[in-house]
Amino acid sequence: MCIFCKIVNGELPCHKVYEDENVIAFLDINPATYGHTLVLPKIHIEKIEDASEECLSQLSRTLPALAKQIKKNCNALGFNYISNSGKISGQLVDHLHFHIIPRYENDNFSIQHGAVDCDLKEVLSTILKMK
Ligand code: 5GP
Ligand code: ZN
Repeated sequence: MCIFCKIVNGELPCHKVYEDENVIAFLDINPATYGHTLVLPKIHIEKIEDASEECLSQLSRTLPALAKQIKKNCNALGFNYISNSGKISGQLVDHLHFHIIPRYENDNFSIQHGAVDCDLKEVLSTILKMK
């Protein structure tokens, strides 16, 4: 059983921020910023690509509600919402989860953009398979 399933069923402790029938949210044990929260379905699904619309809508209802609460109570200025999918992306726990990473001035968190130089027209035709 994965560590998040163990948290869901109470075998492992967590700092629980929110719970309902289908979704649980708790503080990341190794936070990137103050209030870094993980939001996940209670059922074990590995990644977004495997999730049903129903599961994703349950998660997507929770994300903004929690973010608003964190914004208000932690004075966050904005958020990064991240869901890593697959080992290559940095997914360490194979149980679908969204990171809510609150952002603050000078919080030292960054995501690198512009790291790859590519022809967007070619990329688009590859994705849409129009070649
Ligand atoms: P991933 O890299 O899979 O997207 O993120 C997994 C996250 O889970 C990491 O940020 C890590 O700090 C967090 N994490 C790993 N193990 C535990 C745990 O036992 N409890 C909690 N609360 N967070 C965990
Ligand atoms: Zn699991």
